[in-house]
Amino acid sequence: MRGACKMHSVTFACRKSEAEYYWIMQIEETVRYCLACLNPRCVASCPCGNAINAIMSSLKQGKEEEAAKTLYTTNPFPELTSLLCDHDRQCKGHCVRGIKGKPVDFPSIEAYLGQKYPFPYRKKEANGLHVAIVGAGPSALSAAVFLSSEGADVTIYEKEESLGGAMLTGIPSFRLGKAVLAQIKERLDALGVNFRFGVTINKEILKTLRKDYDEVLLAVGASKENDLGLVPSKYILHALPFLRSFNLQNGFDPLPGAHHIVVMGGGNVAMDASRSLIRLGKKVTLIYRRDEASMPAQRKEIFEAKEDGVAFMPLTNLAEPLFEGEKLVGLKLVKMELGEKDESGRPSFHVIEGSEFDFPCDAFMMAIGEKSGVSALCEAEDEHLHFIGDCRYGARNIAAAIKDGREAAKTLLAKNAK
Ligand SMILES: Cc1cc2nc3c(=O)[nH]c(=O)nc-3n(C[C@H](O)[C@H](O)[C@H](O)COP(=O)(O)OP(=O)(O)OC[C@H]3O[C@@H](n4cnc5c(N)ncnc54)[C@H](O)[C@@H]3O)c2cc1C
Repeated sequence: MRGACKMHSVTFACRKSEAEYYWIMQIEETVRYCLACLNPRCVASCPCGNAINAIMSSLKQGKEEEAAKTLYTTNPFPELTSLLCDHDRQCKGHCVRGIKGKPVDFPSIEAYLGQKYPFPYRKKEANGLHVAIVGAGPSALSAAVFLSSEGADVTIYEKEESLGGAMLTGIPSFRLGKAVLAQIKERLDALGVNFRFGVTINKEILKTLRKDYDEVLLAVGASKENDLGLVPSKYILHALPFLRSFNLQNGFDPLPGAHHIVVMGGGNVAMDASRSLIRLGKKVTLIYRRDEASMPAQRKEIFEAKEDGVAFMPLTNLAEPLFEGEKLVGLKLVKMELGEKDESGRPSFHVIEGSEFDFPCDAFMMAIGEKSGVSALCEAEDEHLHFIGDCRYGARNIAAAIKDGREAAKTLLAKNAK
């Protein structure tokens, strides 16, 4: 198909596949639809700090390359954020256009620019700064890009055999194809970033890293799962180790005999675990102590979990697991009601007296939040040891992790500038 492509500063005729032609038409429409607000609420709500209004203004003037440059200034990985961010609560959720109609679809712009304009970072002449980064999640990868592209020598130590962090071990491939992580590896290789995979850093090795490098960044994520303190049982599972084996061991089933599994939680981890269990042929019921609107998971994740067949039981909490001998045969559940908002801004919840009921199932999985595991490695940050990403702030999101890595890199570069 021949189409006039107005996205370019010079209108030209180009041969494109029909899909590409309609894609570009859609992008043009999105650019026209954006008001490029002077006081942009989308920018304020972007955890990565993308200058969305500046990007859209450049596009409105036909300056695509300038728009891509602005995007890459804050975000080296638009292919990740365009796919994985909670846009409904971030840029799209705060878009002025969304007040009366549909919001501007910035993720499609991000994906378009990321796909069309190649990764622009190049290695600069060595600046003498040597940095070790522990962990290879998005905060570490972002820090590595911003450090190496200014000449720092960066080595990433990662306990897994590949990069990605929670994107590798947590987010299943039906949500994020792992080829994107291989592409990021190639880009970081080209930047000269060194990788040491399969290395678990402990307190002793950390001491050595501190001697060998000018600066050490700890980017070990929030992998310490919250727990209900239940009796240990092979029928009571945690979501993160399950997802790790499901993702890295080709759909590993931890309990082949269990048919009906109750998952507890309302975040993305609970949704990913439930949807993965469905793919193992399980029946899944998801319980959550607040209502569905209070679930921290992305709206689209909740929608897709339901589409996959996960049964939702909001306003329901665990009273106790029910065993016959060692075998779990069900759960005693209790109904909840909402009260006033608590300090987190979400409604508080209370047990409805006398609402207990028995619910048969074969296994129970907890996905009730994660916290930093940094205390296993050291006590505190100091002048040359810095925590970034989820291990610093607790479980957040990929865009915030990218921003943390970027800001840490800038701080180290400024501090070590000769
Ligand atoms: C299942 C799941 C689904 C999610 N879905 C989304 C989503 O859709 N959108 C979104 O924005 N966010 C999502 N998140 C959150 C997001 O992935 C995290 O906020 C983000 O990955 C945090 O990045 P990070 O670099 O701080 O840590 P991580 O990504 O957790 O990476 C930490 C890395 O450190 C390594 N490590 C830990 N300890 C050591 C050690 N001692 N030695 C060596 N290496 C070590 C780990 O193996 C890991 O690779 C999800 C998280 C999970 C778990």
